[in-house]
Amino acid sequence: MSFENLGLAEPILRAISEAGYHTPTPIQSQAIPAVLSGGDLLAGAQTGTGKTAGFTLPLLHMLMANRLARVAGERTHVRALILTPTRELAAQVEESVRTYGKHLPLRSIVVFGGVGMNPQIDALRRGVDILVATPGRLLDHHQQGTVDLSKVEFFVLDEADRMLDMGFIHDIKRVLAVLPPKKQSLLFSATFSDEIKALAERLLNQPKVIEVARRNATADTVEQVVHPVDRDRKKEMLAHLISSNNWHQVLVFTRMKHGANRLVEFLQKQDITAMAIHGNKSQSARTRALAEFKSGDLQVLVATDIAARGIDIDQLPHVVNFELPNVPEDYVHRIGRTGRAGSEGRAISLVCVDEEGFLADIERLIKRSIPRELVAGFEPDPHAKPEPIQLGRRVLHGGGGAKSGGGAHSSHRSGHGQGARQGQGRQGAGSGSGGRSHGSGQGRGPGGQVRERERTR
Ligand code: AMP
Repeated sequence: MSFENLGLAEPILRAISEAGYHTPTPIQSQAIPAVLSGGDLLAGAQTGTGKTAGFTLPLLHMLMANRLARVAGERTHVRALILTPTRELAAQVEESVRTYGKHLPLRSIVVFGGVGMNPQIDALRRGVDILVATPGRLLDHHQQGTVDLSKVEFFVLDEADRMLDMGFIHDIKRVLAVLPPKKQSLLFSATFSDEIKALAERLLNQPKVIEVARRNATADTVEQVVHPVDRDRKKEMLAHLISSNNWHQVLVFTRMKHGANRLVEFLQKQDITAMAIHGNKSQSARTRALAEFKSGDLQVLVATDIAARGIDIDQLPHVVNFELPNVPEDYVHRIGRTGRAGSEGRAISLVCVDEEGFLADIERLIKRSIPRELVAGFEPDPHAKPEPIQLGRRVLHGGGGAKSGGGAHSSHRSGHGQGARQGQGRQGAGSGSGGRSHGSGQGRGPGGQVRERERTR
């Protein structure tokens, strides 16, 4: 399969070739003909599959094919609206629109919150064909009458699952209410929950359904490993791993913003260049951090889940989970940043005794156990007791100690417990599949199901 066979116009094919793409990814070879045929689409694809080009390329083609001769001086109205959950993703999608549409006379802009409205108003007034937006700011513009959505022909909802996770459902409904009923709609989501299905039913008209990566499957090109470590030695271990392996372009995840800031300070003291990207940072600080990271000037970018959503960096070699996410699906999203579009990547998780329950949940979700590798000099204390994890005002019990005994307790502790230590000691670090035999997801009866338990204080 080549891009030439998909029926895209020549200026688009030229831009694709200039971007260095030779073969369509699976989502592209399915989504492109589906969109070109004119129907609605429900697509299951996560970041890293090439989904952005999967909807942008046929969208550009359709906009060109259906273009009416523009009267000189007439300003264009919005013909295609692409909604994304985060500012970063919006900026990156619009960058893709520009890249693939660079030989076409179509205008695009991106609007999101956190920056002034006036430049956006000016650009909208000049006229745009393609508008990429986050929901809140789009609604601000609509309320102020600075955007006209009444002639939208194409509507794309990107990362719909994350939109719902972020509480955008009401905003999405408000947007839908102001769009014309007759339009071609595309919904992209990494997962298909009941809520997504309900949204799809409301939005889409007899859609084609395509799903590329199995739900919650982790990319095969990502090599995953867990380094067991004591909670108070994680920072040191991370600095050690970065320096001793001479890692560059490491994306590091923390659960909380202040954790991200503290880690950055620590790394900087170790002469490792690092910046944090999270919701408290100004848009310009986030954009600068991302640009420096992409250019290779910045060694480490520390991010929280929401801020990192949609960060698109080609061939990111390393993703580190400094803290495991308490929502297992976030693990899949996080490691989707590496090993994308065929290149290999490595996802490294630093796991302390407090997080073994999170690890077990992740392994159950991805249906595989992640090999444990001890790092010499950082072997965890086998007697360490799990402590609850403070997440804002919530207290999470992610450790084996949260369970009152039973199979779950002992299997949670497999990363640190006696059995695992013996196994790892024998097999040694880097023993490849030999280290896989201690998946804590294995051998757990129904009574051993560990659910995240939250208490509000
Ligand atoms: P996405 O899933 O849209 O975030 O895209 C993931 C990455 O794959 C982006 O960095 C794209 O530039 C890249 N990409 C998209 N399509 C292709 C392709 N056909 N060949 C190679 N790389 C691609």
